[in-house]
Order: sequence, then structure tokens, then C-alpha cells
Amino acid sequence: MPAYQCYLCDDVLNEHNRSKEHILPNSIGGRLKSDRLLCKTCNTTTGQLYDDVFAEFSVIWASKHHIQRERGNVPNFKAIRISDGAEIVVKPGWKIELLHPVIQYLSGNAINITSSSIQRHNQELARLKKEYLKDGWILDVLQTVADHTERKVDFLSDRIFNQDLLVRAACKIFANFYIYSDGDIREIHRIITFLKEDVENYYGWFCDLNWVHSHYGEKPYHLLAIRGDRKQKAIYAYLEIFGEKGFTGLLNGQYQGEDFQFDLVYDPVGLATIPFDGQLYLDKSQLMKLIKAKPGLTSSDNSLKY
Ligand SMILES: [Zn+2]
Repeated sequence: MPAYQCYLCDDVLNEHNRSKEHILPNSIGGRLKSDRLLCKTCNTTTGQLYDDVFAEFSVIWASKHHIQRERGNVPNFKAIRISDGAEIVVKPGWKIELLHPVIQYLSGNAINITSSSIQRHNQELARLKKEYLKDGWILDVLQTVADHTERKVDFLSDRIFNQDLLVRAACKIFANFYIYSDGDIREIHRIITFLKEDVENYYGWFCDLNWVHSHYGEKPYHLLAIRGDRKQKAIYAYLEIFGEKGFTGLLNGQYQGEDFQFDLVYDPVGLATIPFDGQLYLDKSQLMKLIKAKPGLTSSDNSLKY
């Protein structure tokens, strides 16, 4: 049996230090794993560095599709309801709950309380009664709406991400899948270096996209594709999660080997691998333009030379 090494620290993997690394992250419903990629230490380090940012970033779609993770649940997140500006909590399946009761003052001394549960509603009612009775008012509860849940896209969730870490997370998914698919690790050595380097010093070979390939239409599939292209002297990669967000990158800009293609299409709801039946072609010069067009992601050390 061949000895496998951790692709980040080169330690030989054995029964003591090998770890199960997800090819597609657990946070987006990935189940495919390999124990031939990373040692425990590197798995933990990169998990905390990259995977956690990726999980945070993708939580909005993981929540939408009620993704079942192997470890832990998709967390709730806070957002603002667009229609009335109320603070809300978005729970898995995009179930929306009010963070605080919303009080509307109606005509005829009536008050309308909308809250996330009967308990919250009663608490708010008791508070209002106290406040208003003290002032000599008579409180007339005209209407109560309790246990308020809804499922529609009517919220904004402003979150800020370290884009560099996010792009590295995508890069690690590419490295995982490439090595898992028995790609020659020497061909992507610069990517491995990229993953090891500190945040300030990276090559800028990757970017996130404002468009997606969306071969599977509305279905929330993940698409992971790596192409070895002898004519274009490139190994390039494309990742699409939930059919909603894309990442791309150049794994090697001087490739001289044979053409190859590695594909993985995954349904994170049905937990099934789907055969890839489409075409995916990226043009190297277009790819370079995309990467360069991304502010903050372009290399500062001018290492983009071919
Ligand atoms: Zn390692």
C-alpha cells in the first residue's frame, strides 16, 4: 500500500495522524471524504482558518435548503426584514422569527403586538399594561398575532467576510478534489504554497464570481470541476455552490501534461452524486481578466507571469 503524505506539511499519513477531510465542506452538506489528504493538525488548522469562513459565508443558502450537516446544525442568523425594518432571526429552512416584538399603535387606544411566540407576546403585553395603566390609560388589545413564522425572501443579512480567506477556502476545495482525483500534486505545487502562505502574501490566482454556470437550473446542486488543458497550458477550476455562487481559479498556468477533467456534481439535499452531463470550458485569458478585475485579489508581487 503506498504511503500518502499530508499535502500541506508533507508528514507521512499513518493511523495516528491521518484525518478524514471533506472534499466539499460539511457546512454545505458535503459527505465525500478522504483520509489521504491532510494530517489531523493541518485539517484542524485549515478548518479554523478557511472552512469556518466558508461555512459563515454559505450559511444563507445552507439555511434556505435546510442542509443536514454531519457535525452540528446550520446556525440561525440575524437579519433585517425589508418590508418593515424589523430585526429577525432566520432559522434553518428560512423560517423567520422576530427578534423583538413589533408594536403598532392603532386608532382608539388599540395596540397590535406581533411576536415570535405566545410567551414573548404575553411578556410584552404585561409590560405594556404596566406602563399604560400607570399613566391612566386603558389598554385595549385589539388584535394579537402570536407564533409568527413566515417563509419568504424578505430579509437582508449584512455580513462582512475576509475575501482572501474565502477565496483560499475555495482553493483548498480545489486542492482536495484534485488530489482526491489522483491528479499529480507536483502540477499544483504553487497552489499548495498559496494555501500555506500567510494572508498578506498570496498569488491572486483565484476569485469569486458574480455569475454562475447554473447548468442545473434552479436545483441547489454543487458543481466542482477541474480541467487540464494542454492547448491553453492551464489547469483551471470552477466551483459553484447551491447553484448560487461561483468561484474560479487557475491551478497551473504553465501546464504541459495531457488533457483531463475531474467533475463532481452533488445534490446536498438528496445527498446524491449526479453525473455531470454538460460542457464546461474556461478561457485562460478571460479567467485572468476576471481575476485581475477583482480589487484586492490581484497579486501585489507581480507573480502573474506566463
Ligand atoms: Zn499536515
